[in-house]
Amino acid sequence: MSIFQELANRDQVFEFLAPVQSPVDVRHGPILYLEGVNVSFDGFKAINNLNLTIDDGELRCIIGPNGAGKTTMMDIITGKTRPDTGSVWFGSRHNLLTMNEPDIASLGIGRKFQKPTVFEALTVFENLELAMAADKRVLPTLTAVMIGLKDLRDRLAGILSHGQKQWLEIGMLLMQKPRLLLVDEPVAGMTEQEMERTAELLTSLAGKQSVVVVEHDMGFVRSIARKVTVLHQGSVLAEGSMDQVSNDPEVIKVYLGEEA
Ligand code: ADP
Ligand code: MG
Repeated sequence: MSIFQELANRDQVFEFLAPVQSPVDVRHGPILYLEGVNVSFDGFKAINNLNLTIDDGELRCIIGPNGAGKTTMMDIITGKTRPDTGSVWFGSRHNLLTMNEPDIASLGIGRKFQKPTVFEALTVFENLELAMAADKRVLPTLTAVMIGLKDLRDRLAGILSHGQKQWLEIGMLLMQKPRLLLVDEPVAGMTEQEMERTAELLTSLAGKQSVVVVEHDMGFVRSIARKVTVLHQGSVLAEGSMDQVSNDPEVIKVYLGEEA
């Protein structure tokens, strides 16, 4: 039996033995549900009657001009910012507005911030191992394979390229087996080749995890998009396939027109 088969089998054993923690109930609805959410900062409405539904296993892209409220939306989901009004549910059981940041994270909502935040003085393997501390169900080796860093597993994270650090950080989140992964502008500063690899990584997660990707780069969004939500001034302006939203006159006016 190859070492990888053996590791994979051990992983299944761990998974089998692990207690199920706070199961997310998606039998009768979406994994993430935001309704009528409003947030003001000093009288400025950053989020304005926002409604958003993400299905279990979905890969959703969120686009929108600077200041549209994309990062604030992630802050609300993760408990960093409290909305003034509205509801935010994770599955049908967990009212996220009653929970703090660590409790929301431990329910299985992982967040990748825009800047890579890996431990540069540790190796790739050690970074993955450290991320596992809370939950020993996945082995770092398998994750290193998945994020394409197997051959670099014993190298210090500090020598990785920007793109490789971003993958490592996604890997660190995956070590915690999130049900929902929120990823803010993952390809900013990446080379074309790194972007392609990131597209493969994110699309390979769909189905297993629900993934919400906020991204500016339209080419990248086009390469991974299934359903796209366009945010503008804190609300949903349009939603649909990439072709539908990029042909929407309102979207062209406020967003695509801006780039032309
Ligand atoms: P995006 O990520 O779509 O570019 P943000 O969610 O970062 O937009 O910001 C939405 C708006 O809210 C912006 O006008 C921003 O300046 C404002 N904003 C965000 N966070 C704060 C804050 N903590 N205090 C005041 N204004 C904020
Ligand atoms: Mg942002």
